[in-house]
Amino acid sequence: MKAARFDYHVHESHSRDARESTVQLYIEAAEARGIEEICFTTHLITTGPDVDLGIRDHEIEGYVNNIHELNETTDVHLKPGLEIDYIKGNQSRVERVIEEFNWDFILGSVHLVGKWDVGSRKRSPGFFDGRPLVEATHDYYVLYKEAIETGYFDMMSHPDYWRRYIHQKHTEAARWEDYSDACLESIDALKSYDMGVEVNTSGRRHAHGIQYPIREFLVAVYDTGIRKMNIGSDSHLPEHLGFWLPEAVEMLKGVGFKHITSFSGRNAIMNPIDSVVRTVKNR
Ligand SMILES: [Zn+2]
Ligand SMILES: [Zn+2]
Repeated sequence: MKAARFDYHVHESHSRDARESTVQLYIEAAEARGIEEICFTTHLITTGPDVDLGIRDHEIEGYVNNIHELNETTDVHLKPGLEIDYIKGNQSRVERVIEEFNWDFILGSVHLVGKWDVGSRKRSPGFFDGRPLVEATHDYYVLYKEAIETGYFDMMSHPDYWRRYIHQKHTEAARWEDYSDACLESIDALKSYDMGVEVNTSGRRHAHGIQYPIREFLVAVYDTGIRKMNIGSDSHLPEHLGFWLPEAVEMLKGVGFKHITSFSGRNAIMNPIDSVVRTVKNR
């Protein structure tokens, strides 16, 4: 069995859409699968329809301390991080939470585009309605670029998450031609801010069975000169920990990347790509 050594997108029980998934259950899953490091990225959402899914301010200290305490009980390295929804408007809560705690990793996300939540079965159809796909993706990447330019984040998550419920409106999978010029501008912004993106393997569990982003996006990122890339399963359940990550690493290697990035105290660590996947004995 092959396993990636780390997983940098994992939701435990402070994400209200992962209520039963305790850190302890993830430790057990990591030990069973030979995963050496988990970076937890609970949702921080300041406003909008998904606000209740995120961690509350009064819970943050407990979230971080619990990860540090359980880190002492296992050989698996546990790191506290956040997945922050970038939503236009007042960013004071985001700034305060980033400042106030010692995070290992801050992941930036775009889920909400205007009033459309592309991660919601119910609230995503309006994102696609009445316009060519390239216009819809334009709106997504304008926000994605804005998120990058805040400078708040270490990496950006699932770069084409708008595909999540595309099958409700389009029978065909999205093509690279559907990614507007604003997409290329956001990739340029990543380069200017010395950032990168994750390969988010949750897409392999969703309708079209394709990771986020599509391979052509990764090629564009590589051609722009970006070298920081990371990998995450976006697990909301322990059984998804590490899901499809060895294949994601193989895909990145095929595109030309030589490293996979992990983080400590928000500093990037460039792990040689051949060191990231290892063969684990079935236990
Ligand atoms: Zn997300
Ligand atoms: Zn997530």
